[in-house]
Amino acid sequence: MSFSPNNLNRVKKMTDLQLNLIAGNWAAGDQTIENRNPSDLSDLIGVYAQANSAQLNSTLECAKRAQKEWAAYGMERKQAVLMAIGNEMMHRSEELGTLLSREEGKPLAEGKGEVYRAGQFFTYYAAECLRQIGENADSVRDGIEIDVRREPVGIVAVISPWNFPTATASWKIAPALCYGNAVVWKPANITPASAVALTEIIEKQDIPKGLFSLVMGAGSSIGQQLVESPDVAAISFTGSVPVGKQIAVSAIANLTKIQMEMGSKNALLVMDDADLDTAVTVAAGGAFGGSGQKCTASSRLLVHESLHDAFAEKLVAAAQSMKVGHALEQGTQMGPVVSEQQLKENLNYVELGKSEGAELLCGGEQLNMTHEGYYMSPGVFINTNNAMRINREEMFAPLAAIIKVGSYDEGLSIVNDTNFGLTSGIVTKSLARATHFRRNARTGVVTVNLPTAGTDYHVPFGGRGDSSYGPREQGSAAAEFYTTVKTAYISAGQP
Ligand code: NDP
Repeated sequence: MSFSPNNLNRVKKMTDLQLNLIAGNWAAGDQTIENRNPSDLSDLIGVYAQANSAQLNSTLECAKRAQKEWAAYGMERKQAVLMAIGNEMMHRSEELGTLLSREEGKPLAEGKGEVYRAGQFFTYYAAECLRQIGENADSVRDGIEIDVRREPVGIVAVISPWNFPTATASWKIAPALCYGNAVVWKPANITPASAVALTEIIEKQDIPKGLFSLVMGAGSSIGQQLVESPDVAAISFTGSVPVGKQIAVSAIANLTKIQMEMGSKNALLVMDDADLDTAVTVAAGGAFGGSGQKCTASSRLLVHESLHDAFAEKLVAAAQSMKVGHALEQGTQMGPVVSEQQLKENLNYVELGKSEGAELLCGGEQLNMTHEGYYMSPGVFINTNNAMRINREEMFAPLAAIIKVGSYDEGLSIVNDTNFGLTSGIVTKSLARATHFRRNARTGVVTVNLPTAGTDYHVPFGGRGDSSYGPREQGSAAAEFYTTVKTAYISAGQP
């Protein structure tokens, strides 16, 4: 089935109240919120219940019992659950990707791709259910053996953002379940439809009642209560740095384990030997993909002076040729930004850049389209330097700022001159430079001749500085966060 903004009536209108999953039962709360399509504000996607404090308490109580039951499931039984979730998501990626794009605003192909990828997180961790192998050793004391194995931590609070509403949540929920934990999920309130859809898939599986809970509501109320709960053993958060720091303070009061992926200010270094077309494609994808609303986006483009003018000209052409439009419309390359607040902040950054002395070569303007939505054109700044706020703060906007550099050394030092450290990239044909860059860029992820955004599920993901805190996410590295290690000493005695 193909979708377009004009045949939305073929998509089920979700105007019934959408519920939370509390202690294994679907439940309304005291309040509701409306979810509107950022591509077309007249499109009401649904009305969503907001969980209250008593519901959170009861779901946490139930999760304690359910977690013990789930941990005692055999590994093949757990594997079957995760595999079924992943397979259903991949099978329904067109339908669920459409819903995702409709509420978040990313182009349909990206929405479908995200749901498919989210399914792959579940199938990957389904396999990990069978790969939980410990270590053994002889003791330094004679006749004693040591067995080291991982156990679940207990109840995991998952706090996820709106920019990858399904994928980010899935790369937390899948390992949490795989390693035997219960999950209480507080999704971003701005993208609740994707959260309800994923919860429906998880809830109908062979899992103990109350093992998985959905508590929609404002971060400042229900989210804050969740992270302050002594019943929560571990909190996995993705979002902004200020909220991350606030959650860390609450978590530490209970000595709760935390893992946080936050903002960044990623740089792409384009060297004098780069293939110009590759450099522009990589830069445009990294800066404007998902309307720039990615923690891995490259909004700082460090370009060698010998290529600077030609690069800027081609990047402007690429930005101007991007089709901005309704997320579900065929041919749309960049959808709207997620909210009125985000649009306002983005436009403020455009004015800030100009006031700092940067020259706006194109874009950065609000766009009026047939449908009322939060549209803006991708923008390119030149004459910028790394001290400007547009090069120091995460904008989460389709805005790229070019910094002219005279040498590789200068470029590398600017790449590393940031409070963040999630991703960085270089475009070069020199193996020596690429190797040096890989080893000396102070980021958790490095790319060579590729956009700074776009990561795999079977390897670690995370950053340095203000970008991340706690153990890495994804791949087998996730076990570090979602488990606790037990070391057993065994004296067998004489046969
Ligand atoms: P936030 O950090 O506010 O939100 C992220 C998640 O945390 C949401 O689910 C939010 O709930 C929840 N939350 C907020 N406050 C609390 C709290 N006190 N306790 C527990 N949970 C809480 O990000 P925003 O959505 O407001 O985006 C603001 C900026 O953050 C963006 O412009 C971008 O710069 C950055 N960001 C970075 C992301 C990344 O991938 N690294 C992802 C999203 C944002 P709710 O929103 O429902 O109230």
